Amino acid sequence: MTVTRFAPSPNGPLHLGHAFSAIVAHDLARDRAGRFLLRIEDIDGARSRAELAGEFRADLAWLGLEWEEVPAQSTRIAAYADAAATLRGEGLLYPCRCTRAEIAAAATVMGPDGPVYPRTCRGRDADPEGAAWRLDVAEAMRRTGPLSWFDERAGEQVARPELGGDPVLVRKDAETPASYHLAVTIDDAADGVTLVTRGMDLFPASHVHRLLQELLELPVPVWHHHALLLDSNGQKLAKRRGSPSLADRRLSGEDGQALTDALREGRLPAGITLGE
Ligand code: GLU
Repeated sequence: MTVTRFAPSPNGPLHLGHAFSAIVAHDLARDRAGRFLLRIEDIDGARSRAELAGEFRADLAWLGLEWEEVPAQSTRIAAYADAAATLRGEGLLYPCRCTRAEIAAAATVMGPDGPVYPRTCRGRDADPEGAAWRLDVAEAMRRTGPLSWFDERAGEQVARPELGGDPVLVRKDAETPASYHLAVTIDDAADGVTLVTRGMDLFPASHVHRLLQELLELPVPVWHHHALLLDSNGQKLAKRRGSPSLADRRLSGEDGQALTDALREGRLPAGITLGE
């Protein structure tokens, strides 16, 4: 059975881009007589705002969607810590104390999401106390051998997790011992997600997730990275660039079902286009 999910982080209100993402995931499940899950990705301690989860549910109901909610990330901290301990025990993680500024200064290669970490701390024996832990991608790939994954829109992919550099799997702050990559990979497996649906902006992350699935012996889903809604400058929608929130639209009395119908039919609001 096809199981999809919408996995918003309660760091800020949802906007039209999120609505589109939720509708895509919802409809892919509906069209295949599958299940559509909602998971609140609330491990970003400093930025997470608990009250937003309730707003998200109200937004999805307003859009006319139905979903099953699965446990939020904050309930799964122990599973993330176990997985990190396993990878550490296998010698695949190394502590890193570099700051963002140090990495930007030392990096010589730009990856899909910014400067590629130049492995400064690899083999350096940094003090692990309070450090972040990075995955040694080269060593991990040496052990797994070549990997591939399948995206419904982009087709068969050779996994290239090295493109973004060694990712942080365990963050510096002990309160949230997992990064997005580790948590989302474990959660999608735990929730039985078979079709990982999300925007093209997260396409590079899927290379890392495919590697983590292999290392942690998790099932391998299929992916569906959908096109992003873009503003009049060709940039992806963001609250900070003035995209009105779904909550604002809902509270202003706009018809949510009509908005969903319009997005389904490709009738986009003025100034908004669909990227590749
Ligand atoms: N929580 C992530 C976000 O809000 C999305 C996670 C995912 O779809 O993999 O950007």
